[in-house]
Amino acid sequence: MPSLNEIRSAFLGYFEKNDHLIIPSAPLVPQNDPTLLFVNAGMVPFKNYFTGAETPPAPRAASSQKSVRAGGKHNDLDNVGYTARHHTFFEMLGNFSFGDYFKEGAIAYAWTLLTQEFGIPAEKLLVTVYHTDTEAADLWKKIAGLPDDKIIRISTSDNFWSMGDTGPCGPCSEIFYDHGAHIPGGPPGSPDEDGDRFVEIWNLVFMQFEQFADGSRQPLPKPQIDTGMGLERIAAVLQGVHDNYDIDLFRTLIAASKSLVAGGSNGPSHRVIADHLRSTSFLIADGVSPSNEGRGYVLRRIMRRAMRHAHLLGAQEPLMHRLAPVLIAEMGGAYPELRRAEPVIVETLRQEEERFRRTLGRGMALLDEATAKMSEGGVLSGETAFKLYDTYGFPVDLTQDAVRGKGMTVDMEGFDAAMNQQRAQAREAWTGSGQASAAGEWFAIRERLGSTVFLGYDTVEAIAEL
Ligand code: ATP
Ligand code: MG
Ligand code: MG
Ligand code: MG
Repeated sequence: MPSLNEIRSAFLGYFEKNDHLIIPSAPLVPQNDPTLLFVNAGMVPFKNYFTGAETPPAPRAASSQKSVRAGGKHNDLDNVGYTARHHTFFEMLGNFSFGDYFKEGAIAYAWTLLTQEFGIPAEKLLVTVYHTDTEAADLWKKIAGLPDDKIIRISTSDNFWSMGDTGPCGPCSEIFYDHGAHIPGGPPGSPDEDGDRFVEIWNLVFMQFEQFADGSRQPLPKPQIDTGMGLERIAAVLQGVHDNYDIDLFRTLIAASKSLVAGGSNGPSHRVIADHLRSTSFLIADGVSPSNEGRGYVLRRIMRRAMRHAHLLGAQEPLMHRLAPVLIAEMGGAYPELRRAEPVIVETLRQEEERFRRTLGRGMALLDEATAKMSEGGVLSGETAFKLYDTYGFPVDLTQDAVRGKGMTVDMEGFDAAMNQQRAQAREAWTGSGQASAAGEWFAIRERLGSTVFLGYDTVEAIAEL
């Protein structure tokens, strides 16, 4: 059975053999793109090649790109631990054509790799195409010999990709693997498509048009290809397991987590811990450190979510930093930056967990008390969520995650109102203390940044960090 590391190498080797330049993963913090929180797909580092702003180093390329989807447009945080297929950090395998081959080449490469090199039985695969893209549907018939009922036509934006309001765009075609009738879930496009029976493994994007600001669309003179396949998802298929968390790497991480703290075998906690250990370690290795704003706050949110799960399992002392060496042993070969950053990763995790554990227990006691009187379907008050945030350092998404297990939700409007009230009071206090201009500047910056991500802040600390 091929390991995760072997599958990554096999993918890259296949495209190298087919004249693609192998490009190492870019760091998770986007270079030259302040609008994006983290790199969340393989094509991100190549945006300027696709728009024509820069010349690509080769007409064809392939990579395994570190990707994080834990905020902004793509946010899979709430899926982790609950679906078989989502991580906050994952590796996106991709092949790219910068005006070289197009649909036929992309479909042929994907089909040959999956069915011949990887040996996946054709009957297990089905594809979607954009409803107007008869060219792609015909190619799937011609190249893969797929029958009509395995070529599903989708009319939603799921199958039409665009870089932004303007720029390259085009239809996509997604390849799904059928894990079997014993797993709940319907095929793509059906009402119960969100189940985990049919898992999307690979997305082929056919960049065929250019979208202009006036709403018009023109065919690109040289159409391009961008594809993305989740390494962990294809590993699940090739290792004969349904769930991403049952692949070799995750078995190792989850076993290590279980060896440090027993209990919770069936719940999401160990999966969340293993997943969040990966995203936080990779983010720290790429220079992010926990803070109360921006990228650092996203990191802190992910870390603290994992730390609450550790607490839930009964951990008596910080454990994340003890798991980091296990991850680094598994992934440090492919990503040497992990090895280089090992001391920083370990120390950052240890300090953050020690710090959070000072308030975590009392926060959980408050939360338990508040929810004890509530029943399923109940809504936790915004004031309580705000108190947890403000006094106990609970990011609000952590509180949402905590009550979710009890079938409850958080009154987010109430939370925002409490936050705004505190902000207004802080503003007044600052004005009163004669520091009006500094405070005014701070809030102006805060509000400008606040529109993209929820940043959250402890007033004093955040100001100190500016
Ligand atoms: P899904 O519909 O399952 O959420 P997606 O359509 O959002 O996936 P794409 O944006 O098309 O995913 O990304 C390309 C590929 O990357 C997917 O086909 C999948 O294999 C993988 N992928 C996407 N999101 C995740 C994730 N959160 N964890 C692991 N793999 C992922
Ligand atoms: Mg998704
Ligand atoms: Mg999808
Ligand atoms: Mg997709």
